[in-house]
Amino acid sequence: MMKPALKDTKLFIPEIPKHWTDRTRSGHRNIWNHDSDDPNKPEISLTPPEQGLYAVRFEGGWYWVCGCEVCHGNTGVYSYIVCHDHDRCVTCGTHREDLTDAPWGRLAGFQCKPCAEKEHADRKAEALAKAREENHSEIDCSYEDSIICPTCASVNEREELHEVGTHRITCDVCDETFNVDIEYEIRYTATNIRESGNAL
Ligand SMILES: [Zn+2]
Ligand SMILES: [Zn+2]
Ligand SMILES: [Zn+2]
Repeated sequence: MMKPALKDTKLFIPEIPKHWTDRTRSGHRNIWNHDSDDPNKPEISLTPPEQGLYAVRFEGGWYWVCGCEVCHGNTGVYSYIVCHDHDRCVTCGTHREDLTDAPWGRLAGFQCKPCAEKEHADRKAEALAKAREENHSEIDCSYEDSIICPTCASVNEREELHEVGTHRITCDVCDETFNVDIEYEIRYTATNIRESGNAL
């Protein structure tokens, strides 16, 4: 008999009483009654029998069902967990087990290091070519609303930078290091003095 597809899996979990409702997740682990001090509802942590399954409460109790979005045909969306078969680079499909370097996290899974490096190199070459073509220079980076790289013209988001002064950052796209000066314009607001009745 063929094993049913993971997405059709519905395996009863005998360890968990059906009236328990407090279940949290930590990666592939499912935890019931987290930090509970109720002796009738002790904390229990279970790892699913197969990667990609998570616990869901139905009328009859708790069951392991498939939580892998790829299995359900939902590609390009965030999947909190993926099954073993779909644990692959989003770009080239290399399985996590076949990776030689730690991968880069992506919204819908992970991207292997060679793919991430290639994507970065392509983006950098494209930005540099465009900057050359448009004769991009430092002048295009003065008094701007955003941080524009003087080398490749890419916008660099740095929400943590707000202190007045000079900061040194490295461009996300072309990897060049440059200075960013932050200054604020002074604005004045004048209002009439309104005297309230009991103030004097
Ligand atoms: Zn899957
Ligand atoms: Zn890849
Ligand atoms: Zn740059």
